[in-house]
Amino acid sequence: MGLKVLKFGGSSLADAAHFRIVADIVRAEKERRFVVPSAPGKRFKEDEKVTDLLYACQALAAEGKDIDDIFGRICRRYNDIIEELGLDLSLEDEFSVIREKILGGAGKDYAASRGEYLNGLILSAYLGFDFIDAQKVVFFKEDGTLDSERTYVVLGAALENHPHAVVPGFYGAMPDGSIRTFSRGGSDITGAIVARAAGADIYENWTDVSGFMMADPRIIENPKSIDVITYKELRELSYMGATVLHEDAIFPVRAAGIPINIKNTNDPSAKGTLIVPTANDSETDSIITGIAGKVGFSIISIEKDMMNAELGFGRRVLEVLEVNKISFEHLPSSIDTMCVIVKTDELEGKREKILDAIFRLTDPDAVVIHDGIALLAVVGRGMVHSMGTAARVFTSLAKASVNIRMIDQGSSELNIIVGVEESDYVPALRAIYNEFVQ
Ligand code: ADP
Ligand code: ASP
Ligand code: MG
Repeated sequence: MGLKVLKFGGSSLADAAHFRIVADIVRAEKERRFVVPSAPGKRFKEDEKVTDLLYACQALAAEGKDIDDIFGRICRRYNDIIEELGLDLSLEDEFSVIREKILGGAGKDYAASRGEYLNGLILSAYLGFDFIDAQKVVFFKEDGTLDSERTYVVLGAALENHPHAVVPGFYGAMPDGSIRTFSRGGSDITGAIVARAAGADIYENWTDVSGFMMADPRIIENPKSIDVITYKELRELSYMGATVLHEDAIFPVRAAGIPINIKNTNDPSAKGTLIVPTANDSETDSIITGIAGKVGFSIISIEKDMMNAELGFGRRVLEVLEVNKISFEHLPSSIDTMCVIVKTDELEGKREKILDAIFRLTDPDAVVIHDGIALLAVVGRGMVHSMGTAARVFTSLAKASVNIRMIDQGSSELNIIVGVEESDYVPALRAIYNEFVQ
Protein backbone atom coordinates (compact mmCIF):
# COMPACT_ATOMS: atom_id res chain seq x y z
CA MET A 1 0.00 0.00 0.00
CA GLY A 2 1.27 3.46 -0.86
CA LEU A 3 1.90 6.04 1.79
CA LYS A 4 1.29 9.76 1.52
CA VAL A 5 2.44 12.58 3.74
CA LEU A 6 0.41 15.78 3.59
CA LYS A 7 1.45 19.25 4.68
CA PHE A 8 -1.21 21.95 4.98
CA GLY A 9 -0.19 25.60 4.92
CA GLY A 10 -1.54 28.35 7.14
CA SER A 11 -4.32 29.50 4.85
CA SER A 12 -5.48 25.88 4.52
CA LEU A 13 -5.99 25.75 8.29
CA ALA A 14 -7.02 29.31 9.01
CA ASP A 15 -10.56 28.57 10.24
CA ALA A 16 -13.06 25.79 10.96
CA ALA A 17 -14.37 25.74 7.38
CA HIS A 18 -10.89 24.95 6.14
CA PHE A 19 -10.40 22.29 8.82
CA ARG A 20 -13.46 20.56 7.39
CA ILE A 21 -12.07 20.64 3.86
CA VAL A 22 -8.73 19.36 5.13
CA ALA A 23 -10.40 16.46 6.94
CA ASP A 24 -12.29 15.54 3.74
CA ILE A 25 -9.04 15.56 1.80
CA VAL A 26 -7.21 13.42 4.36
CA ARG A 27 -10.05 10.92 4.65
CA ALA A 28 -10.50 10.62 0.89
CA GLU A 29 -7.54 8.22 0.61
CA LYS A 30 -6.40 5.68 3.15
CA GLU A 31 -2.79 6.20 2.03
CA ARG A 32 -2.94 9.68 3.55
CA ARG A 33 -1.54 8.69 6.94
CA PHE A 34 0.67 11.48 8.20
CA VAL A 35 -0.30 15.13 8.31
CA VAL A 36 1.88 18.16 9.00
CA PRO A 37 -0.03 21.36 9.84
CA SER A 38 1.10 25.01 9.86
CA ALA A 39 -0.23 27.59 12.29
CA PRO A 40 -3.51 29.32 11.34
CA GLY A 41 -2.80 31.80 8.56
CA LYS A 42 -4.81 34.65 7.13
CA ARG A 43 -8.56 34.19 6.63
CA PHE A 44 -8.76 37.31 4.50
CA LYS A 45 -6.25 39.75 3.06
CA GLU A 46 -5.91 42.09 6.06
CA ASP A 47 -6.05 39.29 8.64
CA GLU A 48 -3.19 38.40 11.00
CA LYS A 49 -1.17 35.19 10.91
CA VAL A 50 -1.00 33.50 14.30
CA THR A 51 2.76 33.10 13.88
CA ASP A 52 3.14 36.87 13.51
CA LEU A 53 1.01 37.43 16.60
CA LEU A 54 3.18 35.04 18.60
CA TYR A 55 6.36 36.83 17.52
CA ALA A 56 4.73 40.12 18.49
CA CYS A 57 3.77 38.74 21.92
CA GLN A 58 7.28 37.57 22.60
CA ALA A 59 8.71 40.95 21.55
CA LEU A 60 6.32 42.80 23.87
CA ALA A 61 7.12 40.49 26.78
CA ALA A 62 10.85 40.99 26.18
CA GLU A 63 10.28 44.74 26.61
CA GLY A 64 8.35 44.12 29.81
CA LYS A 65 5.07 45.16 28.19
CA ASP A 66 1.61 43.71 28.57
CA ILE A 67 0.74 40.86 26.17
CA ASP A 68 -2.85 40.19 27.14
CA ASP A 69 -4.48 41.89 24.19
CA ILE A 70 -2.49 40.05 21.52
CA PHE A 71 -2.39 36.81 23.47
CA GLY A 72 -6.16 36.97 23.81
CA ARG A 73 -6.49 37.32 20.04
CA ILE A 74 -4.36 34.21 19.57
CA CYS A 75 -6.46 32.16 22.02
CA ARG A 76 -9.63 33.34 20.30
CA ARG A 77 -8.42 32.11 16.91
CA TYR A 78 -8.01 28.59 18.30
CA ASN A 79 -11.14 28.65 20.43
CA ASP A 80 -13.24 29.75 17.45
CA ILE A 81 -11.99 26.77 15.46
CA ILE A 82 -12.62 24.35 18.36
CA GLU A 83 -16.11 25.69 18.97
CA GLU A 84 -17.17 25.78 15.34
CA LEU A 85 -15.96 22.22 14.83
CA GLY A 86 -17.87 21.17 17.95
CA LEU A 87 -14.80 19.50 19.42
CA ASP A 88 -14.68 18.24 22.96
CA LEU A 89 -11.28 19.80 23.54
CA SER A 90 -9.96 22.56 25.76
CA LEU A 91 -6.60 24.23 25.20
CA GLU A 92 -6.94 26.50 28.24
CA ASP A 93 -4.20 24.70 30.19
CA GLU A 94 -1.90 24.90 27.18
CA PHE A 95 -2.65 28.60 26.78
CA SER A 96 -1.73 29.39 30.38
CA VAL A 97 1.55 27.43 30.19
CA ILE A 98 2.48 29.27 26.98
CA ARG A 99 1.50 32.66 28.39
CA GLU A 100 3.56 32.09 31.55
CA LYS A 101 6.57 30.94 29.56
CA ILE A 102 6.45 33.93 27.20
CA LEU A 103 6.10 36.31 30.14
CA GLY A 104 8.91 34.42 31.87
CA GLY A 105 11.34 35.25 29.07
CA ALA A 106 10.96 32.35 26.62
CA GLY A 107 12.65 33.09 23.28
CA LYS A 108 11.26 33.82 19.82
CA ASP A 109 11.53 30.25 18.62
CA TYR A 110 9.55 28.85 21.50
CA ALA A 111 6.82 31.45 21.08
CA ALA A 112 6.51 31.03 17.30
CA SER A 113 6.49 27.23 17.49
CA ARG A 114 3.33 27.22 19.60
CA GLY A 115 1.33 28.24 16.54
CA GLU A 116 1.84 24.87 14.86
CA TYR A 117 1.83 22.99 18.18
CA LEU A 118 -1.68 24.18 19.12
CA ASN A 119 -3.02 23.77 15.60
CA GLY A 120 -1.60 20.24 15.57
CA LEU A 121 -3.45 19.41 18.77
CA ILE A 122 -6.74 20.58 17.27
CA LEU A 123 -6.17 18.78 13.98
CA SER A 124 -5.24 15.50 15.66
CA ALA A 125 -8.38 15.68 17.82
CA TYR A 126 -10.54 16.48 14.80
CA LEU A 127 -9.09 13.76 12.56
CA GLY A 128 -8.80 11.22 15.40
CA PHE A 129 -5.10 10.85 14.56
CA ASP A 130 -2.29 10.45 17.12
CA PHE A 131 -0.29 13.57 17.97
CA ILE A 132 3.50 13.37 17.72
CA ASP A 133 5.18 16.46 19.15
CA ALA A 134 7.92 17.62 16.75
CA GLN A 135 10.05 18.57 19.76
CA LYS A 136 10.50 14.86 20.46
CA VAL A 137 11.26 13.71 16.91
CA VAL A 138 12.91 16.54 14.92
CA PHE A 139 16.40 17.49 16.07
CA PHE A 140 18.81 20.29 15.35
CA LYS A 141 22.56 20.29 15.85
CA GLU A 142 24.33 22.88 17.97
CA ASP A 143 24.98 25.00 14.85
CA GLY A 144 21.24 25.15 14.09
CA THR A 145 21.27 22.78 11.11
CA LEU A 146 19.07 19.70 11.04
CA ASP A 147 20.51 16.65 12.79
CA SER A 148 19.37 14.33 10.02
CA GLU A 149 20.86 11.19 11.44
CA ARG A 150 19.14 11.46 14.79
CA THR A 151 15.90 12.81 13.29
CA TYR A 152 15.42 10.03 10.77
CA VAL A 153 16.12 7.28 13.31
CA VAL A 154 13.83 8.69 16.03
CA LEU A 155 11.10 10.05 13.74
CA GLY A 156 11.15 6.92 11.55
CA ALA A 157 10.66 4.71 14.63
CA ALA A 158 7.88 6.94 15.99
CA LEU A 159 5.96 6.88 12.70
CA GLU A 160 6.15 3.10 12.58
CA ASN A 161 4.24 3.01 15.84
CA HIS A 162 1.37 5.14 14.58
CA PRO A 163 -0.99 4.14 11.79
CA HIS A 164 -2.05 7.78 11.50
CA ALA A 165 -0.45 10.84 13.03
CA VAL A 166 -0.28 14.61 13.06
CA VAL A 167 3.22 16.09 13.41
CA PRO A 168 3.22 19.90 13.77
CA GLY A 169 5.47 21.72 11.33
CA PHE A 170 8.12 24.43 11.70
CA TYR A 171 9.99 23.35 14.85
CA GLY A 172 12.12 20.77 16.60
CA ALA A 173 14.55 20.56 19.49
CA MET A 174 18.12 21.67 20.05
CA PRO A 175 20.56 19.21 21.68
CA ASP A 176 19.60 20.63 25.10
CA GLY A 177 15.91 19.99 24.38
CA SER A 178 14.95 23.64 23.89
CA ILE A 179 12.74 24.55 20.96
CA ARG A 180 14.16 25.78 17.68
CA THR A 181 12.27 26.71 14.53
CA PHE A 182 13.22 26.58 10.88
CA SER A 183 13.14 29.90 9.04
CA ARG A 184 9.74 31.35 8.04
CA GLY A 185 7.64 29.01 5.95
CA GLY A 186 9.51 26.09 7.48
CA SER A 187 6.54 23.74 7.89
CA ASP A 188 7.31 22.77 4.29
CA ILE A 189 10.63 21.42 5.55
CA THR A 190 8.99 19.41 8.34
CA GLY A 191 6.62 17.91 5.77
CA ALA A 192 9.58 16.86 3.63
CA ILE A 193 11.38 15.37 6.63
CA VAL A 194 8.30 13.40 7.68
CA ALA A 195 7.86 12.16 4.09
CA ARG A 196 11.45 10.99 4.03
CA ALA A 197 11.33 9.37 7.49
CA ALA A 198 8.09 7.57 6.62
CA GLY A 199 9.45 6.38 3.27
CA ALA A 200 6.45 8.03 1.63
CA ASP A 201 5.58 7.48 -2.02
CA ILE A 202 4.62 11.09 -2.36
CA TYR A 203 4.78 14.32 -0.39
CA GLU A 204 1.58 16.32 -0.92
CA ASN A 205 2.03 20.00 -0.12
CA TRP A 206 -1.43 21.59 0.16
CA THR A 207 -1.63 25.35 -0.22
CA ASP A 208 -3.91 28.06 -1.61
CA VAL A 209 -2.89 27.93 -5.28
CA SER A 210 -3.39 25.19 -7.87
CA GLY A 211 0.29 24.43 -8.11
CA PHE A 212 3.39 26.28 -8.97
CA MET A 213 2.70 29.06 -11.44
CA MET A 214 5.06 30.17 -14.15
CA ALA A 215 5.32 33.52 -12.34
CA ASP A 216 4.19 35.10 -9.10
CA PRO A 217 0.38 35.39 -9.28
CA ARG A 218 0.58 38.60 -7.27
CA ILE A 219 2.35 40.23 -10.23
CA ILE A 220 1.11 38.36 -13.29
CA GLU A 221 -2.64 37.98 -13.56
CA ASN A 222 -3.71 34.35 -13.90
CA PRO A 223 -0.32 32.91 -14.75
CA LYS A 224 -0.15 29.46 -16.34
CA SER A 225 0.52 26.71 -13.85
CA ILE A 226 3.39 24.27 -14.24
CA ASP A 227 2.46 20.58 -14.63
CA VAL A 228 5.87 19.05 -14.06
CA ILE A 229 9.02 20.68 -12.73
CA THR A 230 12.35 19.16 -11.70
CA TYR A 231 13.85 19.65 -8.25
CA LYS A 232 16.68 21.64 -9.83
CA GLU A 233 14.37 24.06 -11.61
CA LEU A 234 12.25 24.44 -8.52
CA ARG A 235 15.26 25.18 -6.39
CA GLU A 236 16.30 27.95 -8.77
CA LEU A 237 12.81 29.42 -8.72
CA SER A 238 12.21 29.14 -4.97
CA TYR A 239 15.60 30.58 -4.17
CA MET A 240 14.72 33.53 -6.37
CA GLY A 241 11.52 34.27 -4.54
CA ALA A 242 8.85 31.90 -5.85
CA THR A 243 7.87 31.19 -2.29
CA VAL A 244 5.25 28.50 -2.78
CA LEU A 245 7.59 26.01 -1.16
CA HIS A 246 10.43 26.75 1.27
CA GLU A 247 13.68 26.49 -0.67
CA ASP A 248 15.13 23.97 1.80
CA ALA A 249 12.14 21.64 1.65
CA ILE A 250 13.55 19.97 -1.41
CA PHE A 251 16.64 18.34 0.10
CA PRO A 252 15.07 15.68 2.35
CA VAL A 253 12.79 14.32 -0.37
CA ARG A 254 15.21 14.72 -3.24
CA ALA A 255 17.73 12.46 -1.52
CA ALA A 256 15.06 9.76 -1.31
CA GLY A 257 13.59 10.35 -4.78
CA ILE A 258 10.16 11.20 -3.36
CA PRO A 259 8.11 13.43 -5.67
CA ILE A 260 6.27 16.46 -4.27
CA ASN A 261 2.78 17.34 -5.41
CA ILE A 262 1.73 20.95 -4.81
CA LYS A 263 -2.06 20.89 -4.42
CA ASN A 264 -4.80 23.42 -3.81
CA THR A 265 -6.88 22.89 -0.65
CA ASN A 266 -9.63 25.04 -2.16
CA ASP A 267 -9.69 23.02 -5.39
CA PRO A 268 -8.60 19.48 -4.45
CA SER A 269 -9.37 17.94 -7.83
CA ALA A 270 -6.97 20.23 -9.69
CA LYS A 271 -3.84 18.30 -10.65
CA GLY A 272 -1.43 20.83 -9.22
CA THR A 273 2.29 20.69 -9.88
CA LEU A 274 4.39 17.56 -9.70
CA ILE A 275 8.00 18.09 -8.63
CA VAL A 276 10.18 15.22 -9.78
CA PRO A 277 13.87 14.22 -9.65
CA THR A 278 14.30 14.31 -13.43
CA ALA A 279 11.97 14.92 -16.32
CA ASN A 280 12.26 14.11 -19.96
CA ASP A 281 12.95 17.41 -21.75
CA SER A 282 10.86 16.32 -24.67
CA GLU A 283 7.87 16.18 -22.36
CA THR A 284 7.89 19.92 -22.02
CA ASP A 285 6.66 21.98 -24.88
CA SER A 286 7.75 25.26 -23.35
CA ILE A 287 11.27 26.59 -23.44
CA ILE A 288 11.04 28.10 -20.02
CA THR A 289 9.45 26.53 -16.97
CA GLY A 290 9.11 29.63 -14.84
CA ILE A 291 10.32 33.10 -13.93
CA ALA A 292 10.98 34.40 -10.44
CA GLY A 293 12.70 37.37 -8.93
CA LYS A 294 13.70 39.21 -5.80
CA VAL A 295 14.63 42.73 -4.83
CA GLY A 296 17.24 43.78 -2.30
CA PHE A 297 20.55 43.14 -4.04
CA SER A 298 23.69 45.22 -4.49
CA ILE A 299 26.39 45.08 -7.15
CA ILE A 300 29.96 45.60 -6.01
CA SER A 301 31.68 46.60 -9.20
CA ILE A 302 35.49 46.61 -9.36
CA GLU A 303 37.35 48.03 -12.33
CA LYS A 304 40.98 47.62 -13.19
CA ASP A 305 42.73 47.66 -16.54
CA MET A 306 44.15 44.27 -17.49
CA MET A 307 42.45 42.66 -14.50
CA ASN A 308 42.08 39.45 -16.48
CA ALA A 309 45.86 39.05 -16.70
CA GLU A 310 46.40 39.56 -12.98
CA LEU A 311 46.82 36.28 -11.15
CA GLY A 312 44.71 35.85 -8.02
CA PHE A 313 42.65 39.04 -8.49
CA GLY A 314 39.28 37.33 -8.09
CA ARG A 315 40.48 35.31 -5.16
CA ARG A 316 41.58 38.43 -3.29
CA VAL A 317 38.19 40.08 -3.80
CA LEU A 318 36.33 37.01 -2.63
CA GLU A 319 38.63 36.72 0.35
CA VAL A 320 37.51 40.17 1.49
CA LEU A 321 33.91 38.97 1.39
CA GLU A 322 34.76 35.75 3.18
CA VAL A 323 36.58 37.51 5.99
CA ASN A 324 33.54 39.79 6.40
CA LYS A 325 31.19 36.79 6.35
CA ILE A 326 29.33 37.87 3.23
CA SER A 327 28.22 35.27 0.73
CA PHE A 328 27.93 36.21 -2.91
CA GLU A 329 25.10 35.35 -5.29
CA HIS A 330 26.64 35.88 -8.72
CA LEU A 331 29.96 36.80 -10.17
CA PRO A 332 29.71 38.09 -13.72
CA SER A 333 33.02 39.46 -15.02
CA SER A 334 34.63 40.91 -18.12
CA ILE A 335 38.24 41.68 -19.03
CA ASP A 336 38.56 44.79 -16.92
CA THR A 337 35.54 44.60 -14.62
CA MET A 338 34.47 42.19 -11.94
CA CYS A 339 31.00 42.39 -10.44
CA VAL A 340 29.95 40.67 -7.28
CA ILE A 341 26.24 40.48 -6.53
CA VAL A 342 25.39 40.31 -2.84
CA LYS A 343 22.30 40.75 -0.70
CA THR A 344 22.15 44.38 0.39
CA ASP A 345 21.30 43.59 4.00
CA GLU A 346 24.48 41.51 4.31
CA LEU A 347 26.50 44.68 3.69
CA GLU A 348 25.01 46.52 6.64
CA GLY A 349 27.71 48.04 8.83
CA LYS A 350 30.46 46.56 6.67
CA ARG A 351 30.56 48.79 3.60
CA GLU A 352 33.57 50.92 4.54
CA LYS A 353 35.55 47.93 5.71
CA ILE A 354 34.91 46.04 2.50
CA LEU A 355 35.75 48.94 0.23
CA ASP A 356 38.96 49.65 2.17
CA ALA A 357 40.03 46.02 2.06
CA ILE A 358 39.34 45.67 -1.68
CA PHE A 359 41.37 48.82 -2.33
CA ARG A 360 44.22 47.59 -0.19
CA LEU A 361 44.37 44.08 -1.62
CA THR A 362 43.69 44.68 -5.31
CA ASP A 363 44.72 48.28 -6.05
CA PRO A 364 41.80 48.79 -8.45
CA ASP A 365 41.02 51.79 -10.67
CA ALA A 366 37.54 52.06 -9.15
CA VAL A 367 35.19 50.27 -6.79
CA VAL A 368 31.54 51.19 -6.38
CA ILE A 369 28.61 49.61 -4.64
CA HIS A 370 25.32 50.02 -6.46
CA ASP A 371 22.21 49.26 -4.37
CA GLY A 372 18.60 48.79 -5.38
CA ILE A 373 19.07 45.86 -7.73
CA ALA A 374 16.43 43.24 -8.46
CA LEU A 375 17.39 39.86 -9.87
CA LEU A 376 15.17 37.83 -12.17
CA ALA A 377 15.74 34.18 -12.92
CA VAL A 378 14.41 32.74 -16.14
CA VAL A 379 14.48 29.00 -15.55
CA GLY A 380 13.82 26.07 -17.86
CA ARG A 381 15.17 22.64 -18.66
CA GLY A 382 13.93 23.22 -22.21
CA MET A 383 16.45 26.04 -22.79
CA VAL A 384 19.30 23.65 -23.60
CA HIS A 385 17.51 22.59 -26.74
CA SER A 386 16.41 25.90 -28.07
CA MET A 387 18.49 28.59 -29.68
CA GLY A 388 18.24 32.26 -28.91
CA THR A 389 16.51 32.17 -25.54
CA ALA A 390 18.84 34.78 -24.07
CA ALA A 391 18.30 37.02 -27.09
CA ARG A 392 14.54 36.79 -26.59
CA VAL A 393 14.91 37.73 -22.91
CA PHE A 394 17.03 40.77 -23.75
CA THR A 395 14.88 41.92 -26.64
CA SER A 396 11.74 41.71 -24.56
CA LEU A 397 13.38 43.81 -21.85
CA ALA A 398 14.65 46.35 -24.37
CA LYS A 399 11.15 46.68 -25.82
CA ALA A 400 9.83 47.38 -22.32
CA SER A 401 12.57 50.04 -21.90
CA VAL A 402 14.19 48.08 -19.08
CA ASN A 403 17.88 48.71 -18.66
CA ILE A 404 19.82 45.51 -17.87
CA ARG A 405 22.45 45.98 -15.16
CA MET A 406 23.80 42.47 -15.06
CA ILE A 407 23.55 39.18 -16.93
CA ASP A 408 24.61 35.75 -15.76
CA GLN A 409 23.85 32.52 -17.53
CA GLY A 410 24.25 29.40 -15.43
CA SER A 411 26.69 26.92 -16.97
CA SER A 412 24.03 24.22 -16.77
CA GLU A 413 21.92 26.21 -19.24
CA LEU A 414 19.06 25.85 -16.84
CA ASN A 415 18.74 29.53 -16.12
CA ILE A 416 19.46 33.04 -17.22
CA ILE A 417 19.76 35.63 -14.46
CA VAL A 418 19.32 39.32 -15.18
CA GLY A 419 19.82 42.20 -12.79
CA VAL A 420 17.69 45.33 -13.22
CA GLU A 421 16.91 48.43 -11.17
CA GLU A 422 14.30 47.63 -8.52
CA SER A 423 11.91 50.10 -10.10
CA ASP A 424 12.04 47.99 -13.27
CA TYR A 425 11.35 44.72 -11.50
CA VAL A 426 7.64 44.40 -12.23
CA PRO A 427 7.81 45.62 -15.86
CA ALA A 428 10.75 43.27 -16.45
CA LEU A 429 8.91 40.26 -15.08
CA ARG A 430 5.84 41.07 -17.16
CA ALA A 431 7.89 41.60 -20.31
CA ILE A 432 9.66 38.24 -20.02
CA TYR A 433 6.44 36.41 -19.13
CA ASN A 434 4.61 37.89 -22.11
CA GLU A 435 7.48 37.05 -24.44
CA PHE A 436 7.49 33.35 -23.58
CA VAL A 437 4.01 32.57 -22.43
CA GLN A 438 1.45 34.72 -24.15
P1 ADP B 1 1.26 28.17 2.65
O1 ADP B 1 0.76 29.06 3.73
O2 ADP B 1 0.27 27.19 2.16
O3 ADP B 1 2.58 27.56 2.98
P2 ADP B 1 2.53 30.20 1.04
O4 ADP B 1 1.91 31.53 1.23
O5 ADP B 1 3.81 29.91 1.74
O6 ADP B 1 1.44 29.10 1.37
O7 ADP B 1 2.74 29.92 -0.52
C1 ADP B 1 1.70 30.05 -1.45
C2 ADP B 1 1.71 31.44 -2.07
O8 ADP B 1 2.90 31.61 -2.85
C3 ADP B 1 0.62 31.71 -3.06
O9 ADP B 1 -0.56 32.13 -2.42
C4 ADP B 1 1.22 32.80 -3.94
O10 ADP B 1 0.79 34.08 -3.52
C5 ADP B 1 2.72 32.73 -3.70
N1 ADP B 1 3.52 32.54 -4.92
C6 ADP B 1 4.68 33.18 -5.23
N2 ADP B 1 5.19 32.76 -6.38
C7 ADP B 1 4.35 31.82 -6.85
C8 ADP B 1 4.34 31.00 -8.01
N3 ADP B 1 5.31 31.05 -8.93
N4 ADP B 1 3.31 30.13 -8.15
C9 ADP B 1 2.33 30.04 -7.22
N5 ADP B 1 2.29 30.78 -6.11
C10 ADP B 1 3.27 31.67 -5.92
N1 ASP C 1 3.88 29.35 10.61
C1 ASP C 1 5.23 29.52 10.14
C2 ASP C 1 5.34 30.81 9.35
O1 ASP C 1 4.39 31.56 9.28
C3 ASP C 1 5.73 28.34 9.37
C4 ASP C 1 4.94 27.99 8.14
O2 ASP C 1 3.82 28.46 7.96
O3 ASP C 1 5.43 27.18 7.35
O4 ASP C 1 6.39 31.11 8.84
MG1 MG D 1 4.49 28.38 2.98
